[in-house]
Amino acid sequence: MKKNKSLKFLKLISLLFIFNFLNLPVKSSSALAAWAIKSDGVLELRTKSNAKLKAYFQKANKSFGDRFWIDFKGELSNPRTIKGNGPIKEIRLGKPEKGLTRLVIEFDSNKKINPHSWKLIGIDKNNWRMRLANFPKNAFQTISEGNFSSSSNVKKRSDYFVNLKNNIALANLPNVKRNKFYVVIDPGHGGPDSGAIGIGGLRETDVVLDVSKIVTNILKKKGVKVKMTRTKDIDLDLEPRVSMANDTRADIFVSIHANASIGKKRNINGLETFYYSGWKGRLLAQKIQKQITKVSPGSPDRGIRKGSYFVIKQTNMPAVLVEIGFITGRLDGTRLNKDMHRERVAYAIARGILEYLERIG
Ligand SMILES: [Zn+2]
Repeated sequence: MKKNKSLKFLKLISLLFIFNFLNLPVKSSSALAAWAIKSDGVLELRTKSNAKLKAYFQKANKSFGDRFWIDFKGELSNPRTIKGNGPIKEIRLGKPEKGLTRLVIEFDSNKKINPHSWKLIGIDKNNWRMRLANFPKNAFQTISEGNFSSSSNVKKRSDYFVNLKNNIALANLPNVKRNKFYVVIDPGHGGPDSGAIGIGGLRETDVVLDVSKIVTNILKKKGVKVKMTRTKDIDLDLEPRVSMANDTRADIFVSIHANASIGKKRNINGLETFYYSGWKGRLLAQKIQKQITKVSPGSPDRGIRKGSYFVIKQTNMPAVLVEIGFITGRLDGTRLNKDMHRERVAYAIARGILEYLERIG
């Protein structure tokens, strides 16, 4: 979720606000006050002021159809299920854990939805809107609970939104015990050492820093403690990278790099992961390699290998060095220049790490 910078709010809505407050169900401490799915395909929510929402999507499995859900702070008093219509199977209001309200919208099992562009937009202190795109007009009838008061004269809060897309993959990643594991992520190179230079001046140091930051964020959201050896484009020797992990007793160390071929051959592409020793290092390398090759179709799988790079040799814990592609290669280089691909690679690395942590418990 974006940090909301404009919380110094609009005096003009204070009146409306009191009105809203009076409408709240008396017993409920849930931040969710009212909801509606309109026949024009718009989900509307009314919440307590400045509520912090989180939205997730999960693809259908054996027991559920495609579904998305929104979490609100506070508990609702009576969990319930409301029958849907059209492509919407049902709407559930529940408390998945103490102090949380969850609004789940589940679709029919034969209805596949594509929520990648869906965005829950805060339109004022209390009201939210999300267009459920891709449904024909009047695909379903309006379903709602609670009251909405008009807020048409309120300024739009386009700065405040929850991007469902960012949480799609997150919800589908393996869960590990929270606050149990500690991972050091090492973005290769930095400062005057820019690493390899690829197509169009693409620098390894920038690519791997970007990917490392995304990996770090994902792991943190999954309850893993993470430290990065560098978070900026700074010069950092190999020794302090290693001692950071050794001195703080990290569970694993993951160094992220991109490759370059001699002579910058455009036809050389591929991904590989190195480990130094031990079955754990090997397992970690396998898990990561499997995931990164999945999101890089067409690029050769160069496999996992033993390597004696300083950072993986001198670290005391299972350690790997991941090469996420050749920035000098036409296929890899073009991809690694794109934010979307970097994000995919980062999710892949995070998934590999989480699968490993899940396995070793
Ligand atoms: Zn490198």
